[in-house]
Amino acid sequence: SLKSRTAVVTGSTSGIGLAIARALAAEGANVVINGFGEPAAIERERAMIEREFGVKAVYSGADMTKPAEIAQMIADAEKAFGSVDVLVNNAGIQHVAPVEEFPIEKWDQIIAINLSSAFHAIRAAVPGMKARRWGRIINTASAHALVASPFKSAYVAAKHGIAGLTKTVALEVATYGITVNAICPGYVWTPLVEKQIPDTAKARGISEAEVKEKVLLASQPTKEFVTVDEVAAYAVFLASDAARSITGALATIDGGWTAE
Ligand code: NAD
Repeated sequence: SLKSRTAVVTGSTSGIGLAIARALAAEGANVVINGFGEPAAIERERAMIEREFGVKAVYSGADMTKPAEIAQMIADAEKAFGSVDVLVNNAGIQHVAPVEEFPIEKWDQIIAINLSSAFHAIRAAVPGMKARRWGRIINTASAHALVASPFKSAYVAAKHGIAGLTKTVALEVATYGITVNAICPGYVWTPLVEKQIPDTAKARGISEAEVKEKVLLASQPTKEFVTVDEVAAYAVFLASDAARSITGALATIDGGWTAE
């Protein structure tokens, strides 16, 4: 159980992050949720977590492109709850375009949100974890931390970067009871995947209907999408005491994608 632990989950107003925040709360952790969206919808999700799981849930609107806001989010969580024990770096965006047409500002934004934000949050959270000699850092990476696909230069570069950051920090904190792992999902049906279908169709010169079968599910030997709840269950396990010896791992959950 994660009772009396506090978890910060970035990018948890939607998709995988929301499922992870809810699953950690179900284990008894207080949670800080974060991300963008309609204020009333975010407040509904926050209140629902408290009601359903009997924990405290607070919302941070920290923008993952802003290092000072990320550090403040961790400091506020430590002040409110006394500790940040589980840090899930999950916020992420995608953009699909050939490299020579890739918008420069999209490159910078993806590197900031999908890679640098994890560095800033880890940097802020590690001192407390070290002092308490317990911590779990879980980075939502991707199968794209291990293999590439065309037209996703920024995303694949950021996710490979997350793999390196995960391994490096794991080595630095290994003797402090802190584990650092990356979950590497294949395609999970979320708004992030749905939104990339039109640009993928354009970049590959195929129809939007063909993208699902010929691009997305073609990568996955199971021919099925991974679910957000499956990814959340993996995060809960990595946060548990049973997973204390798993660190520096690139933990795949990809229907066999990266076995090919
Ligand atoms: P999603 O679009 O449903 O959720 C993304 C979350 O990040 C949202 O809460 C959004 O508000 C938040 N976010 C975006 N920009 C932000 C910013 N600047 N500051 C703070 N929050 C911000 O997407 P998802 O599919 O759930 O993706 C979550 C993570 O999982 C990402 O890192 C993504 O790369 C990774 N991932 C997704 C898949 C997939 O197939 N869906 C596969 C592998 C990895």
